[in-house]
Amino acid sequence: MRRVSVFGATGSIGESTFDLLQRRSDVTTVALSGGRNVARLAEQARALGAELAVTAFDDCYADLKSALSGSGIEAAAGTAAVIEAAERPADWVMSAIVGAAGLAPGLRALERGATLALANKESLVTAGPLVMATARAHGGTILPVDSEHSAVFQALVGEDIAAVERVIITASGGPFRDWPASRMARATLEEAMNHPSWSMGQRITIDSASLFNKALELIETREFFGIDPARIEVLVHPQSLIHALVGFSDGALMAHIGPADMRHAIGYALNWPARGPVPVERLDLARIGQLSFEAPDPKRFPALRLAREVMDTGGHAGAAFNAAKEVALDHFIARQIGFADMAALVAATLEHLAAGPDLAAPVKSLDTVQAMDHMARQTARALIASGGIR
Ligand code: NAD
Ligand code: MG
Repeated sequence: MRRVSVFGATGSIGESTFDLLQRRSDVTTVALSGGRNVARLAEQARALGAELAVTAFDDCYADLKSALSGSGIEAAAGTAAVIEAAERPADWVMSAIVGAAGLAPGLRALERGATLALANKESLVTAGPLVMATARAHGGTILPVDSEHSAVFQALVGEDIAAVERVIITASGGPFRDWPASRMARATLEEAMNHPSWSMGQRITIDSASLFNKALELIETREFFGIDPARIEVLVHPQSLIHALVGFSDGALMAHIGPADMRHAIGYALNWPARGPVPVERLDLARIGQLSFEAPDPKRFPALRLAREVMDTGGHAGAAFNAAKEVALDHFIARQIGFADMAALVAATLEHLAAGPDLAAPVKSLDTVQAMDHMARQTARALIASGGIR
């Protein structure tokens, strides 16, 4: 029996993971974590027979406890309890909390030598060198669960990384792929949440409309595979069926094709190193008929340029980039800033922080990453308050 834990179990990736776990008889569930949706968290914990369910929010503890009454499942609450849950001996841990909050529990699981199925791309964006070094030092394994990175990982099986000439990650282009810049600047929350090909959590859906998601994924690719940023390309592919391509020194391109269903990447990580059945749609390519490609427009999608600057700067720039992006997204969701203001705010925050010594300083520990995260959030909020982004 393999012991598994799922962090962010009630989210979009969490639900897809739950769906796959429910179909298996060879796993036992140690811990599940969630946020405010404690009724669903308790339901999942009962269905999987988990030992422990944890809500990230202290004020949700009483509701979780009562939802679990009579089940014998332990309840816990708070940020520290989520991190402690990662110390429980699970062999396979899904990291699917959204945002920078996913970093600490994932690190804790790697310190135990666990296999970390990593959907939380923010872990690699904010603290890539630390996450990779933690896995190496403790014999932990990281399996990428972002669809593009799972695709690259699969294309590299049996290959020599030295023979990789380039990696191409695809982007659907989001709902604003062919909108003029003037219309994009006025885009509403509802328009940004209307993703053409993927069904995902609210935050990543909006990040897909701005291509901030692809910007995070450029950095994620660099950190996980150790590839020179100049060799990583973004290709717009509206059908979202090819998830990534790897180009080798002989000119061959290996593409990964599959339906836009995250159970594919999650199932790969669950079955790894073998392949096993995964209940996703089988593609009928003759019916699909055509796949199309285009270059991303750097003018309308400044997030991609910002990611390249972040990779050039290195150090804590990824933590600052992600934190400023999270603040920008919070304010866009609250309808306090416009769609195009998000990239302007991130750019202004990075510019402000570049004047200090910490941005480019190498990542040493979780503390230095969290300090930069905090500083970038304060800077971004101050810029909004002072009207400094317009
Ligand atoms: P989601 O918003 O649907 O779910 C997030 C989960 O995290 C929920 O369980 C929520 O309760 C929990 N959570 C939220 N804030 C928290 C906090 N402060 N502390 C602890 N837990 C908290 O998000 P999602 O779309 O499932 O995405 C999860 C992660 O996976 C993100 O990093 C995202 O970028 C990545 N990812 C998602 C998809 C997708 O298809 N949804 C694809 C690739 C990568
Ligand atoms: Mg992705």
